[in-house]
Amino acid sequence: MDNVDIAVESLWETRGPVLLTGLNADDARHYVLRWRRAQLAAGRDPLLLVPSRRDAAELTLLISQEDGVLLGGTGVGTLDELVDAVLGERGRLFAPLEREFAVCQAGERLWSEQESIFGRLVRPLSGLANVLEELEETGLADQVIYAGLERWSRSAHHETSRRAAEALRVLWPGYRRVCAEWGVESRSRRTGRAASILATGGDQGRPWTRPVACFGFVTFTPAQRRLLSTLASKVPFLLELAWDGTTASKFLNGEVTHWLRLGAAHVCRRGDTGSEDGASVRLRLLRSSGRRGEVEIVAAEVVDLLRAGIPLGEIMVVARRAGMWRRLVEEVFGAYGIPVQMEAPARIADTGLGNAFLLALRWVRQKDTAAILSFLTSRYAEEKPAALSGPAQELLRDIQMWPDSPHASAVLEELFPVTWSRLRCCVEEEIEQPSAEDCALIDLARAMFSSAWAGRDLTSASAAEDARALRGIEAALERRAEHRSLAPALDGALLTDYLGDSLIWVGAGSAEGVLVTSASRVRTRRRKVVFVLGLVEQEFPEAEGGAGLLPPQFRRDCNRYAGVDLLEESAEGQDMFLFRLALSAANDTVYLSQRLADDDGGPLVESPFLETLRREGHSLPVWRTRTLADVTHEATRAPSPREFLRSCAAQGWVPEGVPEDGWISLQSVTRAGPVRLRDSVCLARLGEAGSWTVGEIEAYARCPIAWFLERVVGIDTPQEEGDLRELGTVTHQVLAIVYRSMMRRGLLPLEMAMLGEVLVLVEDALNTSLSRLRGRRSPAVLSLLAAEVRYRVKGYLRREAEQERRLFPTKLEYSLPAAGVDLEDDLIVRGRIDRVDESDDGTLCTVVDYKTGFHRPSRDWSASGALQVPLYMLALAHLYPEKRVVGGGYEILGAEVGEGILEHGVCDTTGYGDGWQLVPRSGLDTVLEQCRKAAIEVVRGMRSGYFDYPTDKKCPNFCRLTAICHRPAFEADR
Ligand code: SF4
Repeated sequence: MDNVDIAVESLWETRGPVLLTGLNADDARHYVLRWRRAQLAAGRDPLLLVPSRRDAAELTLLISQEDGVLLGGTGVGTLDELVDAVLGERGRLFAPLEREFAVCQAGERLWSEQESIFGRLVRPLSGLANVLEELEETGLADQVIYAGLERWSRSAHHETSRRAAEALRVLWPGYRRVCAEWGVESRSRRTGRAASILATGGDQGRPWTRPVACFGFVTFTPAQRRLLSTLASKVPFLLELAWDGTTASKFLNGEVTHWLRLGAAHVCRRGDTGSEDGASVRLRLLRSSGRRGEVEIVAAEVVDLLRAGIPLGEIMVVARRAGMWRRLVEEVFGAYGIPVQMEAPARIADTGLGNAFLLALRWVRQKDTAAILSFLTSRYAEEKPAALSGPAQELLRDIQMWPDSPHASAVLEELFPVTWSRLRCCVEEEIEQPSAEDCALIDLARAMFSSAWAGRDLTSASAAEDARALRGIEAALERRAEHRSLAPALDGALLTDYLGDSLIWVGAGSAEGVLVTSASRVRTRRRKVVFVLGLVEQEFPEAEGGAGLLPPQFRRDCNRYAGVDLLEESAEGQDMFLFRLALSAANDTVYLSQRLADDDGGPLVESPFLETLRREGHSLPVWRTRTLADVTHEATRAPSPREFLRSCAAQGWVPEGVPEDGWISLQSVTRAGPVRLRDSVCLARLGEAGSWTVGEIEAYARCPIAWFLERVVGIDTPQEEGDLRELGTVTHQVLAIVYRSMMRRGLLPLEMAMLGEVLVLVEDALNTSLSRLRGRRSPAVLSLLAAEVRYRVKGYLRREAEQERRLFPTKLEYSLPAAGVDLEDDLIVRGRIDRVDESDDGTLCTVVDYKTGFHRPSRDWSASGALQVPLYMLALAHLYPEKRVVGGGYEILGAEVGEGILEHGVCDTTGYGDGWQLVPRSGLDTVLEQCRKAAIEVVRGMRSGYFDYPTDKKCPNFCRLTAICHRPAFEADR
């Protein structure tokens, strides 16, 4: 029995409060449970208070294991449950979004005032709602808070600070009035009311008699401290705190002083570093680059620990704020096959259903075609693009390429009538009956849920997450419908934004798993191995004022001028204390995870806590490093099937003989060879098409099998973020935007002297084009995409300026008529020409087609299948007989070269492109006729039902169909 044992035993019968400090979580729990048994033995009914429901469940389980079955209630609860018990009722708290509605109504006058500091903010409500909740958390009377805000607004020297104070002063009474009208009472008000009832001897003459112990708390709000202090004066009371008298825990000095002033008997074990036997835990440093890299290195280490026999329940991952890691950890750990118990709320926008719902609404509100396309390809859409017929798929591809096209809405309405009408209902009904909009939104969310989950595993974690998101959306909209007459100012766009930010708890995940939690929640937990994530400056420790609407300077001003503490200020030493808590939660090993670089490769500064540990004499050996360059593990140590295959690929191995372990193994080719369709229905369907896009004619000419697989079968190879297709779309968009601006500003034809001005336009165009992808692509992908597009577009503009062309671009992204252009012999073509240039007088014209990649077509266009430009030239000649089409060419932006032909003798008028070949008119006509004939053969081939590999041609590097078309196996057999 140590000194603490002796001291604690002697205090069990103390009437006043007992303060227990300096113990690790296991010892603290042990003493709290002994105190409980002592109270039971004395005939009392103790109540243990813990920070969360999850803590309560864990402690209850432990008690039932140690003390047997519990009868008559567990005796473990949260502070909220204590308040409910004292008040004898459950309070009506704010539903998701309801706080924002209340703030919106309370500050109605402010939102329209240009002078008001909050009136000019784009998204003030969530942040403001948090500030108002902070004011309530002080537990002070309304008048005291109002007077404090008034003093701040009168005395602040800084103009912005003064105006913030003034706006809050106006907002505060309105907010309190709305809360009263809606019958909503904040947590702290209820806590304050409970404290008053306890102080006056209990509710309706029934005094509180149960002894209370608090375990695992880090801090208390003023209202909670008042409630506990009142309790401590009435019944036996035990408070356990992680304070040990060292500088690391000075953050809690104020709390300890408060209890000592109240006369608490204090038992302290000083300097406990956290390990069971008093020895230090092992510290290991993990180094990585990028957030995903950081989670991957942690996941790989977890897999190693599991293989070494450490149970899942003995591993914990701690971050300063677990919420910001939630999605990434779930994704990466899921890929590595590691079950996770996530202890962090999710934003509705972060759930699968919430994200798809908001994308759909964004499209409705902003006519953002890219958003609806993302929504339609998600599993939540009722109508799927994959189910469309061939011609419809073609129309869709056109819209995907040019989402800004004025026809986009009409095409989508035609292709997806059910989705269209459902989404339209979400806005149109508003005109006649506002509440119908809420019903339509709820209907949409429910339809999405059933589309995604009908016939699938409803017990999965994703289904549970979606169900919570659906409930969150329903609750928010039901509440809006309830308050619609009172809170009309929250329009649809704001509603979408705030709904996305609303937090929901999505459950604990699998029954057993690696616990992922925030540093402020680890006090009650202890595991064999703990990982501490994000040990970089500004993250852990957090940047001052990194979260919240009001900057630290405003908070200091407020508290100083108000004369009372109204707003929270970051407490000195809090992050260091939380870091120590995380270290002390390990029995055996702590992995300290540090990123060397951010997602863009920019260097990061390590957390000062690591240097503190080194100064204290701890050795921090680098256990594993995984930089952006380290993408493969040794195959035998690969932590997931995907990593295993990657390792095998890097080594040139074929992974065989491991299917029983769940690895994906390569199957031998079972069928290879050309495709021959015989079914008359299929052949009739192929013969039905009356016109063809020039793009698909070229695709067929390049490889009939690829055309068949992609355009007829509808195989869609997965698109990776920032891949060639995305690069192509953005590059074409940027070029079109830049040339339109150049037309408006008279910067054509382009000369070297204009280049500086034009390159500035590229940046603006890039911004416009990439803004559609922001929020849907990571910053790293966006900056890579921007760099690739910049290189291509600027390189091309420089080349064009050097060439001294004399034609003017007159048509950009020019669509041939939808019915097609008849080039005779059953060849009717459609498509979109990247650019048509014309001479001053409009009599001569050329066609330009941009290629984003590096592939330079051979000069023999008809043989190589480079049919796009010649077919466009023929189509233009047909449409505009008054003009002479004198040339055309491909501009291969990746390789910075051109490949084209130009009629000899017109150079004086047109100038000519670099890489363009001069030919006599007769030669030009011959080339065009050869290409027309080649295209006629292509169309016959498309209708024939026989599709073969390309003869005498190497497959292009960008073709991803190798594994499906089986060409290598077929050629080997042949
Ligand atoms: S890999 Fe070659 S043969 Fe196979 S589909 Fe692609 S281009 Fe055609």
